[in-house]
Amino acid sequence: MKLDKLNAVLTRVYESDMPDVNDLEALLELKNSEELAVLFDFADNVRQKFAGAGVFLRGLVEFSNFCRNSCLYCGLNKYNKGLERYCMSHSEILSCVGNIADCGIKTVVLQSGEDNRFGIEALASLVKDIKCRYDIAITLSVGEADRKDYQLLKEAGADRFLLKIETSQEQFYDRFHPEMSFENRIRCLSDLKKLGYQTGCGNLVGLKGQTTKILAEDILFFKRENFDMIGIGLFIPHKQTKLGSDLAGDLEMALKVLAVTRIVTKTSHLPASTAIGTKGGEDAVVRALKAGANVIMPNFTPAKYKELYEIYPGKKCIKESWQKSLELAQECVNSAGRYIDYSRGDSLKK
Ligand code: SAH
Repeated sequence: MKLDKLNAVLTRVYESDMPDVNDLEALLELKNSEELAVLFDFADNVRQKFAGAGVFLRGLVEFSNFCRNSCLYCGLNKYNKGLERYCMSHSEILSCVGNIADCGIKTVVLQSGEDNRFGIEALASLVKDIKCRYDIAITLSVGEADRKDYQLLKEAGADRFLLKIETSQEQFYDRFHPEMSFENRIRCLSDLKKLGYQTGCGNLVGLKGQTTKILAEDILFFKRENFDMIGIGLFIPHKQTKLGSDLAGDLEMALKVLAVTRIVTKTSHLPASTAIGTKGGEDAVVRALKAGANVIMPNFTPAKYKELYEIYPGKKCIKESWQKSLELAQECVNSAGRYIDYSRGDSLKK
């Protein structure tokens, strides 16, 4: 694409309340490095203007890998019988949250597979306990649940919830989630918003058969739903899943989706996702920070559990202690010419 044409498309997408899907597709199809540099710089400027220079840290605790679901791409899916399952105790989780708080980080993300192993009541009491002890925002990432359970957790003090749609196109969704319901996932996201959670969504880039049209529709879905946070993931095949021999997603494509999502959604918090870091190392994290991202999620899961939380293989953080994970985050932030913002980093949406 000629550079003047590219600039015209970027301006149109930036200024429009609901951009044209063809414009988004054209941006996702950019290939040469000069064009990509223009796209990433544009996203970087939008990030600076709407989200500032600070990078927020969210301390991640992967507290259970039990799962009743069968997402075809995920190593935690219930058909992976070779995986040793664990569920951390209340006090083990509290001690991880203590480490996060001691580092001055003001958000903990409690993530797990989907299962009632821990129990909703127990999770609610954990949320209350964390809120009593620490001045910290709680993000839950525990999957689909009934509205009454989401309500119980909200009333216990949870602030935010992450539930990725994975793909916004129903037929494509069904291909990867044969025993699940797209409609229920949408219902969950709607309940979470109505209950007052700061709500995070996101997708997976690189699933077999995914087109730039589908990715462009994902970005329009994020825009329509006005999510507070959006995680752009990158598919990495896991041998013990049905998609074990598929190709991994393309890092460049994930960065393009991230950049276009920033330009379109403007104020949403966008992490430099762990999958991006796994595929491309620290260099990719820095590139993500320079292409629209403003969040990093250092991993605080104890070592013995971290290796069992294998949603995909080779997870970047597995061999690192949480101290190292934090150190690397700081290095990436420095290399990107930014600084860590140690405030809570609540939603920037009005
Ligand atoms: N069970 C919870 C959260 C755990 S999974 C939930 O469903 O919300 C967290 C994220 O890991 C998922 O949203 C998915 O996007 C990502 N993921 C799973 N398998 C993956 C794979 N093979 N490659 C990359 N990301 C994957």
